[in-house]
Amino acid sequence: MAPDGAPHIRIAGLTKTYGDVVAVDGIDLEVRAGEFFTMLGPSGSGKTTTLRMIAGFEIPDSGVIELAGEDVSRLPPYDRPVNTVFQDYALFPHMTVQQNVEYGLMVKKVRKGERRERAEQALGMVQLTGYGARKPAQLSGGQRQRVALARAIVNRPKVLLLDEPLGALDLKLRQEMQIELKSIQREVGITFVYVTHDQEEALTMSDRVAVFNHGRIEQVGPPADVYEHPQSEFIAGFVGVSNVLERDGRRLTVRPEKINLLEDGREPQPGWHVEPGVIRDVQYVGPVTRYHVTLDRGGELQVLAQNLEEGSSQVLEAKGRRTRVEWRPGQESVIDEEGGTE
Ligand code: ADP
Ligand code: MG
Repeated sequence: MAPDGAPHIRIAGLTKTYGDVVAVDGIDLEVRAGEFFTMLGPSGSGKTTTLRMIAGFEIPDSGVIELAGEDVSRLPPYDRPVNTVFQDYALFPHMTVQQNVEYGLMVKKVRKGERRERAEQALGMVQLTGYGARKPAQLSGGQRQRVALARAIVNRPKVLLLDEPLGALDLKLRQEMQIELKSIQREVGITFVYVTHDQEEALTMSDRVAVFNHGRIEQVGPPADVYEHPQSEFIAGFVGVSNVLERDGRRLTVRPEKINLLEDGREPQPGWHVEPGVIRDVQYVGPVTRYHVTLDRGGELQVLAQNLEEGSSQVLEAKGRRTRVEWRPGQESVIDEEGGTE
């Protein structure tokens, strides 16, 4: 195990090209031991290729991958202390849950008693105690996903790589599994490297997030940093609503829920940034209302307001009205020009 605080995975100058497609374009990355680390980005941004290089299924064109201080870049997958869980978690349909979970240990010739014990322990961790005798077809989608997880955990890898493991589940189950996965990860203390294109999933589960775009990482940080202080226009738009304005020669962005609408002539709070505009459109979304405000100085902002009052659907009448928006200084992020221009 890597000592506390030391990087558990270190990636430097990693590149991979397929023909003339640069899938991964010079990635540097450090993941800490025990961390829930997420690679977030749109389809085709190089997440899976990066994960497959960490796993050993792809050999990099250049660059280095170290696991716990050891250069593993050229080792075959089975010589790396990692395990992978894919979205299409192919369980063996003819085997029981218990046999599925024990399979990896059997291949490694672990003796029967220990196999059984470890498989039962792994099934306990994913809350499937008592399901060992069932066949995969007798389980729900979420349960099958947890068997796949148990099958990986049972090998006691130092690192678990997960590629969109919840992608096949419907929204409700997905949200439940997000909470469970996070708590399983805390309990087993394994380093998780998790791939998703879903920004909410990334923000909910991760200790830190790396945002991928065109084979590069545009920003790395804890979820709240990445969300509240996006460093590029791409991140502002991909990890939320873009809300980008040009002001005094700078490009800046403010999150919709940080902005207040000053309706009914309400006075701004002292020291806050205030701008007049017109409410171009209003959407009632149940818990919140989304206002699209065209500003007199140019640009448009989305503003999100909680529907605290009863009869909130009256908000729709605000369409076309003049208004003012305000936000606390410091709530905006200045987008760096290099990242902000395509
Ligand atoms: P993501 O997982 O972020 O969706 P991928 O890493 O799968 O992205 O893909 C990155 C880019 O590399 C894409 O343009 C994809 O088409 C290309 N690519 C990935 N794997 C291969 C492959 N085996 N052969 C050719 N092109 C590939
Ligand atoms: Mg992928």
